[in-house]
Amino acid sequence: MKRLARIIAYLSLALALGAPGVASLAATLAPKSTASPNAVVPFGIGTLQAGMGEAVSGYLEVPAAAGDAGTRIPVSIIRGAKPGPVLVLIAGVHGYEYPGVTALQELRQSLAPASLTGTLVLVHIANPPSFYGRTIYTSPVDGKNLNRVFPGKAAGTLSERIAYVLTREVIERADYLIDLHAGDGNEALRPYVYMPVVGKPALDAASRGLALAFGLDHIVYDEAPLLPPEASLYTDQTALSRGIPAITTETGQMGLNSREWVDLAVNGIHNVLRHLHMVAGAERPNTAVVWLTGYEVVPSPAQGIFRAAVRDGYAIAANGVLGVLVNPFGETLTEIRSPFAGVVNYVVGTPPVNAGDPVAMVSRLKTD
Ligand SMILES: [Zn+2]
Repeated sequence: MKRLARIIAYLSLALALGAPGVASLAATLAPKSTASPNAVVPFGIGTLQAGMGEAVSGYLEVPAAAGDAGTRIPVSIIRGAKPGPVLVLIAGVHGYEYPGVTALQELRQSLAPASLTGTLVLVHIANPPSFYGRTIYTSPVDGKNLNRVFPGKAAGTLSERIAYVLTREVIERADYLIDLHAGDGNEALRPYVYMPVVGKPALDAASRGLALAFGLDHIVYDEAPLLPPEASLYTDQTALSRGIPAITTETGQMGLNSREWVDLAVNGIHNVLRHLHMVAGAERPNTAVVWLTGYEVVPSPAQGIFRAAVRDGYAIAANGVLGVLVNPFGETLTEIRSPFAGVVNYVVGTPPVNAGDPVAMVSRLKTD
């Protein structure tokens, strides 16, 4: 109101003085119509449009191409009654990781646009072929890991085309991005956040703000170098390489969709909304973070049957046994050991592994 009063005062003065350009400015300020201003400035993704104070849901189409029938990605836009940042939340990049998917359904049903400042974009299931095909890691259509093919290709395989649509329609629209993962269908995982540290102070500070606000008590420094935007591979790197702060969260494990894992995601999102001043209320401080760094994913040296010797979240000694690989008759092939002392972020919890598959992720305690 104060700002408007000042503009009107300026206009009166400028008209009296015959200032140039005033007529066009006055025209801009004149009421456009009796319609709500919501209709004047829609926020669109694909064919979906949301006016201010509106929530809409629909599908982003990934058209058919030679070799497959395409897919459609369910998305929602919740547009607040007041302008503000665009927060993009993506779930289901890996189709066997459910708590994020459920958290976004609950958010869509419970968050009133009138209570929101800014815009929330929800990608409910980023990878429908993997979700409905119940596959871990990769798509049943092209065998590719969606979180390794960003920014995708307009004329690529189905995973590449999904990545292309998500990059263009969703990620590039974001001011902030959170990619919601969990331990995959075979991974026993202790919840944590990947906090990218790419060496750009403003970007790193904003990503750190998201990581702390999400509220999990294990945060992993992800000091992988910033990838180029044309070969960003991951959702978070796709955002970061375009100057958009991003984190990847891990809440859940082993294909479970239990309340405890869903709540971690729901509560994390709500605290991020407070952190970004997109909803009312003070951000709850994250007071007991175990900072981790230098993570390594330990691969299996061969195909076999894995018997974990540790559990998710346990401490492990340098060269400590993570598990044993046996053959189909139960005879030991090899022990698989930790490369350093640290914390087991996840360990494979189901028997089959192939050569090169992860059996565990281990991080060092960050002491500085
Ligand atoms: Zn994942």
